[in-house]
Amino acid sequence: MKLNRVEERKIENFIRRYTASQISKDQRVDNSSLPAGAPMYYFCRACGQFITALPEAHFSPAPKYCDDCEDLKKEALLDEALRRARA
Ligand SMILES: [Zn+2]
Repeated sequence: MKLNRVEERKIENFIRRYTASQISKDQRVDNSSLPAGAPMYYFCRACGQFITALPEAHFSPAPKYCDDCEDLKKEALLDEALRRARA
């Protein structure tokens, strides 16, 4: 996949986020282990970084991706970024 310099930069940043969140994975909050009424913690499904904590009974949809990964997804770069990060 041939990418321009801006796209390459975005993917490099993704790999940095991905690598950092792999290291801290064990410290990630497990929502199922929290008592009822505790806020829910959301992590990006792509890079794994913390996105937000929301009250258990929030009405907005749970975020799937952080803003940066959402951006990659819009530009159809997310699959390539994940492929490289896992290589
Ligand atoms: Zn992300």
